[in-house]
Amino acid sequence: MLFVETPSNPLTEISDIAALASVSKKAGALLAVDNCFCSPALQRPLELGADIVIHSATKYLEGQGRVLGGAVLGTRDVVMGGVFSFLRTAGPSLSPFNAWVILKGMETLKIRMEAHSANALEVARWLEAQPGVARVYYPGLPSHPQHELAKRQQKTGGGIVSFELKSGKEAAWRVVDSVRLISITANLGDTKSTLTHPASTTHARTSQESRDAAGITDGLLRIAVGLEAAGDIRADLARGLNGR
Ligand SMILES: *Cc1c(COP(=O)(O)O)cnc(C)c1O
Repeated sequence: MLFVETPSNPLTEISDIAALASVSKKAGALLAVDNCFCSPALQRPLELGADIVIHSATKYLEGQGRVLGGAVLGTRDVVMGGVFSFLRTAGPSLSPFNAWVILKGMETLKIRMEAHSANALEVARWLEAQPGVARVYYPGLPSHPQHELAKRQQKTGGGIVSFELKSGKEAAWRVVDSVRLISITANLGDTKSTLTHPASTTHARTSQESRDAAGITDGLLRIAVGLEAAGDIRADLARGLNGR
């Protein structure tokens, strides 16, 4: 099996799903795509040749950080083969209440993803213009190395923006410590903006060496841009960026 996450967490690298589908077909392998960052509203990997799509429904599908859930999608053969028998035997079944909350969330998925993307693009553009920021990672920015691929493959850039502070960890932690509106948590996909320092949270268990090799530096922050007014999000980030 070939497994990809696109855009990737946290650096928003894009994998060419159609190209990887043809490579994996030739090799007789299944292509599985983690579609959490885009959701089906922005990207449809099965139509590009993927065999399996997985989702943390905890994120954008539900959309308001209320319940945990997940989904594995694919052809009947794939899902009724390994996936169904695993679920049946191991028992990670969704509770009816969680299923209901996720279904209610999905009713607004399309308009939420459009709004998350518009807000994220505005925040990303603003971050790019800040003197303390070394680099911004967002597929919707022309400066993203795979911007053209992202435009072909996904409808919009999505809600996740990562950025690197010039002064490293201290500067990053100052931003984290200064926010009042944005929540500090490793979750994403909420209507509320959430801020994460990947090197000390989501990627803390990997070695410094492999984090550096992957570009997940101590000065990197990831913001999952919510549905607040973009000006309020900018003002909240500016508090720490400007050292106040
Ligand atoms: C959160 C996340 C997961 C895991 O989801 P859980 O609900 O925690 O199991 C997988 N992939 C991506 C891209 C995520 O953001």
